[in-house]
Amino acid sequence: MICPKCELEFIDSVAVCPDCGEKLVSKEEFEGNLVHPSDWVVVYTTSENYEAEMFKANLLGAGIDSLILGQKDRNYPAVGDLAVIKLLVKKDDTENALEIINDINSRKDINNEE
Ligand SMILES: [Zn+2]
Repeated sequence: MICPKCELEFIDSVAVCPDCGEKLVSKEEFEGNLVHPSDWVVVYTTSENYEAEMFKANLLGAGIDSLILGQKDRNYPAVGDLAVIKLLVKKDDTENALEIINDINSRKDINNEE
């Protein structure tokens, strides 16, 4: 369990942060809420979910955490309606992630030409 305010971890039997009184959340929940747009960079957009999943798997294989966001809500200013699925990585991983994505894409192009 983690306090979302203090970002401190507690044992499971603790329900409320002893420091600030904030309700503790599970680690998964905390990490899910940790997606601050400023920490994450969109490295790829696609309309195909399988493609996003494929890149995510490849990035994970290289030790890079990534997130897939399916932006379908209308409140979000969409850049091109078709590219609704976004692949995000942490800022620090941007360069490596782009390299991997470009590598996969260039191999794909070669295959298509044959
Ligand atoms: Zn706290």
